[in-house]
Order: sequence, then structure tokens, then C-alpha cells
Amino acid sequence: MNFENQRIVVAGGAGFVGGHLVRRLLEQGARVTVLDNFHTGSRATLAGLEGDRLSVVDHDVCAPLDMACDLVINLACPASPEHYQADPLQTWRTSVFGSANLVEMAQRHGARIVQASTSEVYGDPELHPQAETYWGNVSCTGPRACYDEGKRAAETYLLDMFREKNVDVRIARLFNTYGPGMAINDGRVVSNFVVQALRGEALTVFGDGTQTRSFCYVSDTVNGLLALAAGRGLQGQVFNIGNPDERSVLEIAELVRTLTGSAVAMRREPAAIDDPRRRCPDISRARQRLGWAPETALRDGLEMTIADFRGRLAAGAT
Ligand code: NAD
Ligand code: UDP
Repeated sequence: MNFENQRIVVAGGAGFVGGHLVRRLLEQGARVTVLDNFHTGSRATLAGLEGDRLSVVDHDVCAPLDMACDLVINLACPASPEHYQADPLQTWRTSVFGSANLVEMAQRHGARIVQASTSEVYGDPELHPQAETYWGNVSCTGPRACYDEGKRAAETYLLDMFREKNVDVRIARLFNTYGPGMAINDGRVVSNFVVQALRGEALTVFGDGTQTRSFCYVSDTVNGLLALAAGRGLQGQVFNIGNPDERSVLEIAELVRTLTGSAVAMRREPAAIDDPRRRCPDISRARQRLGWAPETALRDGLEMTIADFRGRLAAGAT
């Protein structure tokens, strides 16, 4: 698919990933409608992009909607554990009812839909690294379940819409993504550490810090989403989109200290409940079928992220 003049609905487009994705779609000539209830996102994310090819609609995807479209990209859902656990019922409704509403809208208009799913569908994985064929190890009762199980249920509904109704559904399981533009109060590890280091505060390490994640720079994640949206013959398929460069939380803390030049302490805090111990994507499928792989090294990505946060904090952002 060439995005030029395509009518593209980006649900959750005022969030962190959304801001970067919408910018890229507009650069490629798309007509973009952002649907967002500004739960964790903000109109400021889209500042500078206004024009007659972008419209922004204040809408909660839990409510049905109808809008002519060629492609729907569903990013709507708080992604930070702090935010998705603050109102678990709303998180689950957003994931399940919101995704159902969007895929039904895509069906009515013969549109394609790309769903932002998550590595959290693998839970606390017993298989390492995680390939798309792995079923996961997920608690359906714990505090993360609203997000993990909500995303799993959304995958189920969308893939059944593909199998039963022939809707062109594509699923991206995003792994931890970071970069410029994350909200100052986002609550995820990279933004927390960068903000803390720049403010001269101790870095909050949850648990012993040996747990791992694999961090993908946001432009790489967006490239993966675009490749998935544009590719031919990918309907009904699921892809890991992430960077296999696996690091412990302690390594991230150390890197942030080095790159900010800030000699702050680390403060141990209790481990998060049901926190996955390890997380690393197997991206063989995305390499083969999308011709996609991440390009930005962690150190470079963190430097760009730190520069962005430094600028915003200096300008008084909170
Ligand atoms: P974010 O919280 O910055 O953005 C989510 C956006 O969705 C926000 O603009 C928010 O206001 C909007 N939203 C939330 N509930 C909504 C609702 N009911 N109706 C309409 N809009 C709603 O998160 P992000 O990091 O940009 O993540 C985007 C998507 O990617 C999410 O679906 C997330 O689950 C998925 N994802 C992200 C990561 C990551 O590391 N960033 C990893 C895995 C999956
Ligand atoms: N984490 C941490 N300090 C923080 C925020 C997070 O040690 O201030 C840890 C968290 O417990 C987890 C890892 O960093 O082990 C990644 O957490 P994040 O919230 O960024 O993403 P997710 O848990 O969804 O992968």
C-alpha cells in the first residue's frame, strides 16, 4: 500500500508512538484522522502537524463509531503499567471493546486494520527469546491482566474477524519502545530514569534490577508498523516488532547515568507484582516477511531521548 491520499484512522494517535507514526504518515501524503480520548495522550503531541490532511477527533474507542477509511491503525490503550493499572476496567474495555469497534468499522468500509498488540501477551515467558508461535505464560487474575489479557482477547477477536469475515487484519506485538516525546510522567523505566537523572534524583530500581527488557527506538517501531501496514498478503499474520538487544534494568540505569553525566544514586523499591523476569523478541519472521529490523543502537537512541527530555524539562515541562 502506498499511503498517498489513503484515508487512515489512527486510534490513540495522540500518544507517544502515535505522534511519531502520524508524522510519518503525513510525510507520505496520507489523510489522517486521529481518534483519541486524551487519557494518556495530548493534543500537544500533534503540535506542528495541523493542516487539512490531519483531523483530530475526541472519541473514546469503547463507543462504536463510523468513519470512511482505507486503513485503521489501533494504538488506543495506555501502555505504561502505572497508567493501565490506574483504571483496569477502562484498560480492559479499551483493549477489547475498542478493538472490536475498530475492526467492525474496518469491515464496513473494506479497510485494512493494524493492531498494536504487545509482548505482554507472552506474560512472564518460560521460552526465551519469544517467537510468535509461543502461547505465553500469563496471569489472568493479577494486576497486569487487564492489559495482558485485554490485548490477548483483542488478538482473538481480530483474528476471528479475519477467519470468519475475511477482514484484512494484521497484528504487531510491540516490545518496549522508547524515545523522544514520551510523557514526562509516563512512568516507564526509560523515561523515569532519564527524568530522575536530569533532575538529580535517585533512580528508582524496582526489585533487584536483574530483570531484562529489550528496548526498541521509536522510529524503528514505527518503521515496523508501516512495513506491516503496507505489505502485500500479510492478512491474518502476527509479528514481533522489537529490538533483540536485551538489557537488565541495572544496565539501563548505568547507561542513563553515564549518558546524562549525572552521578545520582539508585534507590531500590519493591518489585512490581507479576513483573516479567526476561523479555526478548525473536524477530526472524519480521526480518523475512517484512524485510524489517531495528537500526538504532540503544546508546544512540538514549542520547536522542535524553536530549529531548533535557530540552523539555528546561522549558518547564512537567
Ligand atoms: P500511550 O499511552 O502514550 O498512547 C496511547 C494513546 O491511546 C493515548 O493517546 C491515549 O490517550 C489513547 N487512548 C487510551 N485509551 C483510549 C480510548 N479508550 N479511546 C481513545 N483513545 C485512547 O502509549 P504508547 O506507548 O504510544 O503505545 C501505543 C500502543 O502501542 C498501545 O496500544 C500499547 O499497548 C502498544 N504498545 C506500546 C509499547 C511501548 O513500549 N510503547 C509496547 C507494547 C505495546
Ligand atoms: N522499572 C524500574 N523502575 C522504574 C520503572 C520501571 O525498575 O522506575 C522496571 C519494571 O519493574 C520492569 C522494567 O523496569 O521490570 C520495565 O518496566 P516498564 O514499566 O518500562 O515496562 P514493562 O514492565 O511494561 O515492560
